[in-house]
Amino acid sequence: MLRRSKLKVFALLPALTLAVAAAGCGSETTPAGGQTGGADAPALIKSGKLVTCTGLPYEPFQFEKDGKVIGFDVELVDLVAKKLNVTQEIVDTPFDGIQSGVDLDSGKCDLAAAGMTITDTRKQNFDFSDPYFEATQALVAKKSAGVTDFDKLKGKKLGVQNGTTGMEYAAKNAPGVELVTFEDLGLLLTAVETGTVDAAINDNGVLFDWIKKKPDFEVGKEFDTGEQYGIGVKKGNAALLKVINETLAAAKSSGDYDKIYEKWFGKKPTK
Ligand code: GLN
Repeated sequence: MLRRSKLKVFALLPALTLAVAAAGCGSETTPAGGQTGGADAPALIKSGKLVTCTGLPYEPFQFEKDGKVIGFDVELVDLVAKKLNVTQEIVDTPFDGIQSGVDLDSGKCDLAAAGMTITDTRKQNFDFSDPYFEATQALVAKKSAGVTDFDKLKGKKLGVQNGTTGMEYAAKNAPGVELVTFEDLGLLLTAVETGTVDAAINDNGVLFDWIKKKPDFEVGKEFDTGEQYGIGVKKGNAALLKVINETLAAAKSSGDYDKIYEKWFGKKPTK
């Protein structure tokens, strides 16, 4: 099931509508402008670009539509790019290389935005921004299967996505369940739909989004794993981390974060 050499680059149009928000309300004195800015301006791997590693599809955080990559994470990173006076370019690459820190270390991208949970292990390999989203693990299966917990899957097949917190959670908490690994969320959900696996584990946000379009399927269980997503940068890249954190904080106080959230999740954030 593993897809090899999956590497695709997407150039994104500048998010013009967000330019005003980023340029307005000016208590910020750090010069924006990746390549030409002041001493604090982060060094970027590609002139004029903020290169993002992500694993597609991960709807509604990042997915391809009409040849463009769109989604919640994409719009948040567009705000960071705007702040740096550059445009975002997206590199689609398997999640496992993102979460291990290998892609950041090898200079494949400036940052990783991939609906990625902040974990202690990952924190040893690269640095995370402040949290920007809450998540928890969940099970999705055909409604008729009644998969309300791992015990309903004894002797059955549970699909997991390679390198994810869901995979790790299932490996620890689902004894007697056969785990089947998939490279990305798209392949995982296709396997659930076609019955190749009896259920899948992944983050609640993507699964609730998927069942909106799949009325025969349900999220039968959410595990209270208390996860938070963060944007990753190469270890020690404090200059970029600072811009990301300032941008997230500014988006939260200006209401831009809430607008983007509502656009992709159909409701306001609870906190
Ligand atoms: N949040 C999960 C993790 O960090 C899944 C992320 C993903 O598959 N893109 O492992």
